Amino acid sequence: MSRNAILLCVLVATAGFIGVLSQGCLIRSLTGACCPGCGGKRAALQLLEGDWAGAAKSNLLVYPIAAGILWGGVAFATKRPRSSPLHVSRKAMWWLLAAVALFTLLRNLPAAGFLRP
Ligand SMILES: [Zn+2]
Repeated sequence: MSRNAILLCVLVATAGFIGVLSQGCLIRSLTGACCPGCGGKRAALQLLEGDWAGAAKSNLLVYPIAAGILWGGVAFATKRPRSSPLHVSRKAMWWLLAAVALFTLLRNLPAAGFLRP
């Protein structure tokens, strides 16, 4: 995956995650089910305010996403010419997608209600 494509994905995911593109979750309003981004805006704001426990309660994905943004920023800032520090393997992308899908499934099960925002 090219560097620009990764940066674009990070920007779009971040914008969507913190709710810049919409004020509410369309999936939740239509289906009643939580998507992986539900509670993300609140979690991001709580994380910025230093409320780490509140952020985890709102959306647990805020931590890996914040770590990914930090990692991407550091990799981008320290990038040497003709190298690809932002390379993410196809296998890693599938694992990431599977983890997000599992999180989405779990947070919609009654037994794992603590994952709901
Ligand atoms: Zn949602």
